[in-house]
This record gives sequence, C-alpha cells and structure tokens, in this order.
Amino acid sequence: MSPTDPHWRQLSEGELELKRQCRAFAETHIAPSARESDRRNALPHEVHSAACDAGLMNVGFPIALGGRGVSARALAAGGEELAAACAPTAFSMGFNHGALRPVLHAGTPEQQEVFVRALLARRGYASVCLTEAATSGSNLPGLRTRAVRTDRGWALSGRKCMVGNGCDASLYLVLVEAFEGQSSRGLTFFAVPRGPGVTVGDNTDKLGFRCVTTPEVIFQGAEVDEFHRVGAVGGAEEILGPTLDYMRFGGTSVMLGLVTGALRDVVAWIDARVVHPGGPLSDRSHVQLLLGDLFAELRTARAGLFELALRLDRGEDVSLLCSISKLRASRLAVKATQSLLELYGWRGIDADWSIQKRARDARVTTIFEGTSEIQLLHCYRALRRSLAEGGWL
Ligand SMILES: Cc1cc2nc3c(=O)[nH]c(=O)nc-3n(C[C@H](O)[C@H](O)[C@H](O)COP(=O)(O)OP(=O)(O)OC[C@H]3O[C@@H](n4cnc5c(N)ncnc54)[C@H](O)[C@@H]3O)c2cc1C
Repeated sequence: MSPTDPHWRQLSEGELELKRQCRAFAETHIAPSARESDRRNALPHEVHSAACDAGLMNVGFPIALGGRGVSARALAAGGEELAAACAPTAFSMGFNHGALRPVLHAGTPEQQEVFVRALLARRGYASVCLTEAATSGSNLPGLRTRAVRTDRGWALSGRKCMVGNGCDASLYLVLVEAFEGQSSRGLTFFAVPRGPGVTVGDNTDKLGFRCVTTPEVIFQGAEVDEFHRVGAVGGAEEILGPTLDYMRFGGTSVMLGLVTGALRDVVAWIDARVVHPGGPLSDRSHVQLLLGDLFAELRTARAGLFELALRLDRGEDVSLLCSISKLRASRLAVKATQSLLELYGWRGIDADWSIQKRARDARVTTIFEGTSEIQLLHCYRALRRSLAEGGWL
C-alpha cells in the first residue's frame, strides 16, 4: 500500500521504504508491548534492542557517527509510524537525536567521536538536563545548577528533574550556570558521564508517557575536565535554541503519530458498534463530521511538519515553525483523543482499550519541550516583531 498523503509522495523511494519498515516494526514489536511498558513504567529495552537490530535507532545521525544520515522529513515520516503504535515508545527511541544536539551543534570532532559515535556504537542513551524542580522550567536562565571552575576542570552541583530517558542514560547534557570564583560566566552546557558525583533517581509515576523514564538526576560536586564542556563558557543560549527546535520537531512527529494511531483504531469500532435506533456508529453524521475534522487537522498539521522538516534539512532558522508545529500537534493530540474516547462509551476509560492510554499520553504533550503557553509567548513575540518590521504578518 502507498501512503495517500501527497507529502509522503515527495519522499524518495528509500525514505518511503524506511516509513514502511517503521510501520511494520511498530505493528510487530511496539503495539504488542505498549500496554505492558506503560504498566511497568520503564523503558521497553526489548523493543529498543529489536529496533537496533533492525537498524531503526538513531537513524538521523550522520553515517560517520553511527547513524543512517536520513533526512529530517524521513525521520518525521518514520517517527509518525512508530508513534502510531505507542507514542512514548517512539519518543524514547528518538530521544538521542534531541539530547545529543548540543554536541552535534557545538561539539568538536573529538567530542562528537566520544559523546556521539562511541555512545551510539554501544547502544547507549543520552539525556538533556534542563528542568529543575526548585525553579520554573519555563525560565531556564533562572536555573540553580552550577559548574564551578577547579584546578582540574569543573565541578557540577545541583538537581535536575524530569530528565527524559534519564534512568537509562549514561551521558547527561547538563545546562548550568558556570562560575569562575564568585563571577558568573553565564549558561554553559557540559556532557557529564554517569559516574561519581551523579545520582539518578527512580522513574516518576506520570499520567502518560510512562515508559519515557523521567527521574531526578542529582549532581554533587561531579567533576569533569575541559573536554566535557560543550561550546563556549557562557555559550549555552545559542546551543539551546537549535536543541529545543530539534526536540520540538521530533515531538511533533510523535504527536501526529499518536493521532494517526487513534484514527486507525477507531474505524473498526465505529463500523462494528450498532446503536439504537439500528445502525453502526459510523452512519451517524456527528461521527463522520468529527473524524473528517480530525483528519483535516491531521493533514494540515502534517503539511506544517513536512515544511518544517524541509527547512531543517536546508539548515534554515525554524524556531518559530517548531513552536507552532509543537503547539498545534499537542492541541490536536488532546482534542482527538478526548473526542474519540467518548465514542467508545465505558471502553474509552478502560485500560484494555488503546484509546485510554493514548488519551493519557496526549495529555502530557502540552507540557514537555516547553508548555503551550511558552510556545504561545514565542508566537506573540514573533507577532510583535513582524508588526515592528512593517506589519507583514
Ligand atoms: C514526559 C516529559 C519529558 C520531559 N523530558 C525532559 C527532559 O528530557 N529534560 C528536561 O530538562 N525536562 C524535561 N521535561 C520537563 C519539561 O520540559 C517541563 O516540565 C516544562 O518545560 C515546564 O516546566 P515546569 O514543569 O517547571 O513548569 P513551570 O515553568 O513552572 O510552569 C508552570 C505553569 O506556568 C506557565 N508559565 C511559565 N512561565 C510562564 C510565562 N512566562 N507566562 C505565562 N505562563 C507561564 C506554564 O505554561 C505552566 O502552565 C519533561 C517533561 C515531561 C512531562
């Protein structure tokens, strides 16, 4: 079967093949274990291991670093298929792409060799540590984790929370305020291996995205040498932008996959469910209009994602587009799952039915990678800038 969305027809044959491979993998490996990994509240290692064997992990990294060098649009196309079976599993599978972005963006070739190529070769995980419980995660310049210059390099102290894939990671990309003596040198990224001075907590007990482990990670005088500083001292802000962009791009494809999966599932139910007076649910106009509406929104959001991917591949500034895409996809995921859940009656809230988990997963998407309010503020600032620059909105 060929994908019907004209956007997918713009993919090369090889990219389309990756999408088909992802769909087959999702059906045989991800879907059967989705409920169990949600219940276990832990990363599905067996799925990850099978994905590594099938060459479906870390595909967006350059070939020289152990990836397959696939384009952003192919990554989006494949990610959506994986997420259609289980959004958090797909998210956890793609997480390295965002977490290692600081090293790809600002790391030296030697750092990329050690922190990316070697990590991927041993099937490892990296996490990015931005959020702290004590301060607003939406206001990163206010963070409290510090790196203090020492004779041998740097010592990091502080507590990060909600660290994605954190229970499983062996490398943490940590955003800190750097100090030399008493003087702040500004926000700086460090690549900190799991080891002495680093304590990793248990997974949190979340509403959704449960198999994406999000522990607290505590740094207590964790020592690293200069080699572990990523980018310039005080240079984190220019790394943070592209990192968040890439995470929001990946997140968008996962959210659209979640909606795709929910729409695929619901059709069998509405065709089979006979309601009084006599006839399947799918004959009811309100059901047809709802599905038509969701399909239209999915297609529109995907068109935006595809444009975003093309621009990412061209190396353009996609920051606003990433915010808009993430905002729209997360809203659609919540809207779609809430309204489809209703069509299942009591089954919609029963764990035996996939929509219950999808609705829980969808609810989480407006929070991670920056809340919806943060994306809206980004849009507001862009609006003001456009007005100030002549009003071509
Ligand atoms: C599944 C999952 C995975 C995650 N993975 C990671 C990860 O890998 N690494 C990581 O560092 N973090 C991660 N996070 C944390 C996530 O990025 C933060 O929760 C998010 O950025 C919001 O920060 P906060 O929770 O501290 O909320 P706060 O910033 O305290 O916000 C609280 C409320 O205030 C609103 N708000 C904040 N500032 C403003 C403002 N200026 N104007 C108006 N409203 C505002 C927010 O929108 C929100 O509604 C993850 C979260 C989840 C759920």
